[in-house]
Amino acid sequence: MVYEVIVVGGGIGGLTVAALLAVRGVKVCLFEKESRGGGCAVIAPERFGYRFESGAGLYASWQPGEIHERIFAELPVATPEVKAADPPYVVRLPDMIDVSLGGDDEEFEARLRAAFPECAAGAVGFYRELTPVAEALQRAALRVPDLPHASKLQRMKIIASEARIAPRVLGRMDHTVAQHLQFTSPRFRRFIDAQLQIFTQRPSDECAYLYGAVALNVPRRGMYVIRGGASALSDTLTEAIRKSGGMVRFDAPVLRLAYNSSGSAAIGVDLLSGERVTATRAIVSNLTVWDTYGKLVGLNRTPDAVRARLKKLHGWGAYLLYLGVDEDAASRLPAERILALTDWRAGEKFDPENSLLMFSAAPSWDARAPEGKRAVTVSTFTEPEQWFTFHQDETEHEAQDQKMLEAWWERLHAALPELGAGLEVIETATPRTFYERTRRKLGMVGGLGQSLDVFGPASVTHRTSLQNLYMVGDTAFPGQGIAAVTHSALVVANEITPPNK
Ligand SMILES: Cc1cc2nc3c(=O)[nH]c(=O)nc-3n(C[C@H](O)[C@H](O)[C@H](O)COP(=O)(O)OP(=O)(O)OC[C@H]3O[C@@H](n4cnc5c(N)ncnc54)[C@H](O)[C@@H]3O)c2cc1C
Repeated sequence: MVYEVIVVGGGIGGLTVAALLAVRGVKVCLFEKESRGGGCAVIAPERFGYRFESGAGLYASWQPGEIHERIFAELPVATPEVKAADPPYVVRLPDMIDVSLGGDDEEFEARLRAAFPECAAGAVGFYRELTPVAEALQRAALRVPDLPHASKLQRMKIIASEARIAPRVLGRMDHTVAQHLQFTSPRFRRFIDAQLQIFTQRPSDECAYLYGAVALNVPRRGMYVIRGGASALSDTLTEAIRKSGGMVRFDAPVLRLAYNSSGSAAIGVDLLSGERVTATRAIVSNLTVWDTYGKLVGLNRTPDAVRARLKKLHGWGAYLLYLGVDEDAASRLPAERILALTDWRAGEKFDPENSLLMFSAAPSWDARAPEGKRAVTVSTFTEPEQWFTFHQDETEHEAQDQKMLEAWWERLHAALPELGAGLEVIETATPRTFYERTRRKLGMVGGLGQSLDVFGPASVTHRTSLQNLYMVGDTAFPGQGIAAVTHSALVVANEITPPNK
């Protein structure tokens, strides 16, 4: 078979780029190894009447004019139903102080003053400093979607239009967030570390300031919950591809790229089944940057410089608890989503693996659970290597899973005592689960941590060492979660075929 564009992988990134290309008249075929799309956003089980979200179920940039509205305005399908998450979440500190991220600036500042009396002015000042910087960057990203790789001319235009704030932005290019926390207490820094870890995968002493500013501002601008969760988004995108005449082939794993006889250019893909499919214009990989080179391009064709870079990049793994929670217990909590810091780790380096959990209940208007219950996903961080290195057989993996479950069960009850006995474990997921479902290297999820060596001009791009091979997804574009993945798909679709051309 011959197509203009082949998309490898049907995560949210692959589905979105295929949907955009198909509606723009490109003959496109997407190959997904699983029997449905959605990738790591939909790996959660559907069991005993529960439909879980794979993650926190908290989605950014659904406001008018933002990336999702822009995508769905082009597609021949209805936009999935979203509602504002109000509040987006509450941060619970180890001293049981709750800080809600909702409300207007005045309310939020009053909350900061009350929660952090020891550094009230510093805490308020930190947010006041970052808000205009983040807003300017967000406006610029809307105007020039591929902001990290904008041309000189585009950059000049942005700087001119943001003349008031541009010097502040440029002056902070090589700062970490921690450099701007000097007038705050260790408690406030942990409040920031917890949020940065969730949204940038790096704590304040490693996270690039500009990236951190946007990440911390996202919940203040508002976040959303999707009816039916990420599965609904994935199904809608699949429908959009088909409605526009694109092809989606599930249960169709791609083995590698196919090359021309001289080996100088990719001409298509070889499927695991032995079938060869040709692409006349481009191939888009929705695999992670490691897997795009390791599996599709082939390590022997990967340039040395790229190989060296890949070795230095590292992601986190996730350990998840899928819980059934009594409606009564859920209603005793201060919010449906709670980012709980379970330990200050005072005087030590921030340790997300043992001191942070995200509790996320399906909203009351979409409980995704049997009567009187709610589907809840608890997400935690874990170093992925440990789930692969030490196992001789399956029982060792199960034992490690059990040990982890017991540790988090205890921490969860200590952090959220309101839950009482009103919850049961339906299932867990480890990096091995993510690997088995998505084939992501070491089950690493959530993109690349945005430290200074990965941020800005140094970021991994959607372009690859092969001219007609592009990448979409959470390792190919800086940004947070599905909004960033969607953004990366728009950038690649525009590069292959701009809209209305
Ligand atoms: C615990 C957790 C919580 C999260 N919470 C949120 C949240 O609340 N909000 C948010 O916006 N984001 C959240 N995220 C992030 C978000 O889910 C991911 O960043 C996003 O889904 C990644 O999409 P992707 O398209 O980049 O890749 P993937 O989802 O990894 O998709 C890649 C696809 O390629 C397929 N594939 C792999 N190899 C092959 C092959 N050889 N041939 C064919 N197909 C192949 C895979 O099966 C998969 O479907 C969370 C992530 C995690 C792990």
